[in-house]
Amino acid sequence: MREVMAAAEVGDDVYGEDPTVNALESATAELLGKESGMFVTSGTQGNLCALLAHCGRGDEYIVGDHAHEYRYEGGGAAVLGSIQPQPVPIGDDGMIDLSAAEAVVKADDFHFARTRLLCLENTCDGKVLTGSQMRAAGELAARYGLGHHLDGARLFNAAVALGEPVAELVEPFDSVSVCLSKGLGAPVGSVLVGSAKLVAEARKWRKMLGGGLRQAGVLAAAGLYALEHNVERLAVDHTNAARLAEGLVGGVTIESCATNMVFVDVASAGGLGKQLEERGILTTWHGSKCRLVTHLDVSSDDVDRVVEGFSELLS
Ligand SMILES: *Cc1c(COP(=O)(O)O)cnc(C)c1O
Repeated sequence: MREVMAAAEVGDDVYGEDPTVNALESATAELLGKESGMFVTSGTQGNLCALLAHCGRGDEYIVGDHAHEYRYEGGGAAVLGSIQPQPVPIGDDGMIDLSAAEAVVKADDFHFARTRLLCLENTCDGKVLTGSQMRAAGELAARYGLGHHLDGARLFNAAVALGEPVAELVEPFDSVSVCLSKGLGAPVGSVLVGSAKLVAEARKWRKMLGGGLRQAGVLAAAGLYALEHNVERLAVDHTNAARLAEGLVGGVTIESCATNMVFVDVASAGGLGKQLEERGILTTWHGSKCRLVTHLDVSSDDVDRVVEGFSELLS
């Protein structure tokens, strides 16, 4: 990856003249079966550009109550777009409650914000939404004339877990944002795809957000490399996560999923993070809970080390 970055042909992407960025944008759009793509600095910027392109001031988007775009992106749509979120519950399967979503679609009435967009996230906390769940959401969006956006930061994990072509899975969506910098292992960047019209609108917002980059081909080259070499191997991360979940026994409650995340709940977590750190294992805790994520820099031996660390410290 570093070699293709060093060798990348570049130009000025603010003028659409960086051949490597252009290649990444069209390759991603083609892979996802959409007309057009736009390289963005981060998943947050991809989601925000999409929200700003779909919705105007006083509009509203329906979103899961712990979806990344609602909970973990600084409220950007409200701050910068005057767009109101309408959260709805996410079930244990990672899918938003569609009847709750339908119930909050607002009538055309000056008392209400204008409901404009329905958002999903796949994977959500590592959980995979199936093609039929996404189609059901797409039908709801179509029934009410809403736009439909997917936060697909970890979409390729879902596609690999399902063993289904990614373009088929995202067919119901008007826009999709995918991260190159998570499991795919690029240092920086996401791509937002959709219709040419929507992406053109999003491009104006990207410029305003300071995301118009110049010789960005060095970054796009890493993205192209990631799409070519690091998608199928996500299955290895899923196997590693499953081994991790199986290995962690005794004093812990495990919630695993079909992809690359394991949630650990340790009743007696006090000091455990520090003790793991002393063994060179860095973890993040929220009270008694810890999220472990496997990716291309976590080997099968690393998984063994983590399992060993946890079981020795907890026994
Ligand atoms: C990481 C992530 C994002 C945001 O990506 P950044 O590049 O960190 O801004 C958005 N949505 C989901 C589901 C993510 O996992």
